[in-house]
Amino acid sequence: MKENKWKKFARYYKPYLGSFAADMFFAILGAAVTLIIPMVVRYITGTVIYEEPDKAMKDIAVLAVVMIALVAVEFVCNYFIATVGHNMGAKMETDMRTEIFDHYQKLSFSFFDNQKVGQLMSRVTNDLFDISELFHHGPEDVVISLIKFIGTMVILLNIHSGLALCAAASLPFMLVFAYVYNGKLKRAFKRNRDRIADINAQLEDSLSGVRVVKSFGNEDAEMGKFQSGNNAFLESKKSAYKIMGIYNSGMGVFTTLVTIVVVVAGAVFLTNKTLEVADLVTFMLYINNFTDPIKRLVSFTEQFQNGASGYERFLEIMNVEPDIVDDKHAVDVGTLQGDISFKNVMFHYVDTDTNVLSNLTLDIKAGEYVALVGSSGAGKTTMCSLIPRFYDVTSGEIDIDGMDIRKMTQKSLRRNIGIVQQDVYLFAGTVKDNIRYGKPDATDEEIIAAAKNANAHEFIMQLPDGYNTDIGQRGVKLSGGQKQRLSLARVFLKNPPILIFDEATSALDNESEKIVQDSLEHLAKNRTTLVIAHRLSTIRNAKRILVLTEDGIAEEGTHDELMAKNGVYANFYHIQGVTA
Ligand code: ADP
Ligand code: MG
Repeated sequence: MKENKWKKFARYYKPYLGSFAADMFFAILGAAVTLIIPMVVRYITGTVIYEEPDKAMKDIAVLAVVMIALVAVEFVCNYFIATVGHNMGAKMETDMRTEIFDHYQKLSFSFFDNQKVGQLMSRVTNDLFDISELFHHGPEDVVISLIKFIGTMVILLNIHSGLALCAAASLPFMLVFAYVYNGKLKRAFKRNRDRIADINAQLEDSLSGVRVVKSFGNEDAEMGKFQSGNNAFLESKKSAYKIMGIYNSGMGVFTTLVTIVVVVAGAVFLTNKTLEVADLVTFMLYINNFTDPIKRLVSFTEQFQNGASGYERFLEIMNVEPDIVDDKHAVDVGTLQGDISFKNVMFHYVDTDTNVLSNLTLDIKAGEYVALVGSSGAGKTTMCSLIPRFYDVTSGEIDIDGMDIRKMTQKSLRRNIGIVQQDVYLFAGTVKDNIRYGKPDATDEEIIAAAKNANAHEFIMQLPDGYNTDIGQRGVKLSGGQKQRLSLARVFLKNPPILIFDEATSALDNESEKIVQDSLEHLAKNRTTLVIAHRLSTIRNAKRILVLTEDGIAEEGTHDELMAKNGVYANFYHIQGVTA
């Protein structure tokens, strides 16, 4: 299992092996250069200055050029690591983001029923960024640290093993300090992230609910909630800065302490005449190479933990199998006639055992207009979601034109069905964009025709920019009735043979309801239509009314037949006190 996980991780490097190789090459070269420069200094201070003045001058000039060239190489290496490495990480992050978004699109309703949108969003943003950092900094830091540390150790042991051991002896203390404080820092940063997430959540809630906030006059209370989150973030940041202060200055002190140890021990060895001044200078120049790997390795462990936990959260999502997938032999059904049959359908949602529908058997003929009534929670919406396969039946089957819908591709099945619900979801963008959603390649003429059919053309023409008017996030700039008519225009354009209206007019005022009802009836012509109605007055004229109860279809018939029966339907009718 574990191996598998990291094998999968390695797969993301595959398209970028060239960049990865270049990144590693420059990391190795850059680290090697930092090992060479002090050796040149040693040669100058230990050998060149004791040569004949003329030759010494010449050599110094040559070596100065060599050192400048080495620094230039180091610059180029660092530049490439920063660009090639980061670009590679960013590309891999983009690939993963595409992959997770694609996966989200494939997941079923049952998955989204149980998730918070904010968390699904952070998988795609923050978590992937952490992984991206790990992708390139991880291998770079490990390679650079190993080369610098081992290289320095070998060189120093060769120059003077006693002094090299003294210098190395102080490193474990530094390592422990760095490790402890890095852990504290990591936890502090995690607290910062949690606090900012709280602020985001609070902000999202208050801003989305701004109309409720204002209507209740609760601005002060919202301010209070926000302020406490804001202060908590400040406190968290202050404590993080305190830890960061100790960490950074502590690491500075340790570096100086290593220097002091080297100077003191070096002075002793100088007095004993076992060490040359040039060697001591060389040692001093290597101290950074000694301490840098510690900082890097410690920051690598932090990056690794962040990246790995982000990666695990990413895998958690990627490993969710969609409940509803196309059968291997699924066919594209083209355009359906619209005969729908439910055969002994049983259904319950995954998280409960109680059946919402049991033994539902029902035939709807192509072109028929059928109304479905039932008390709230009876399962009307559920029954409708089974037709486009938003959920699969627990047992039994649903056929359209005599074919089990599980044998059709989901795309071709859903292409044949238009759904209009009470809550209209419109996307940010213009009126035209939203109507075109029903048929992406529609011409402007088709869009206008659809709008006219949906009784929407007139009000659209009165908007400031007509069809090009921006409707705001989720259509906030439109009235309920206008939004519903746009959603109908969208379905007119899609032109499906099967329609489902799920309480499409129940949120509307009487006047809008009449207009929308008129459009709905126009849309329903020559299509198989299943209407769930909240107000019985809107379905009085339906030739066939089904009454859904917990025990399935309890009654069916025309309004007059059902009233004569004096059963469940008649009872509903009396409760509503409908006179129309
Ligand atoms: P209706 O549309 O007739 O009012 P629904 O089909 O919406 O009824 O709901 C039928 C039952 O299924 C209710 O008890 C409801 O709580 C439950 N239910 C609806 N949607 C879900 C869901 N996504 N997950 C779990 N239970 C659900
Ligand atoms: Mg419902």
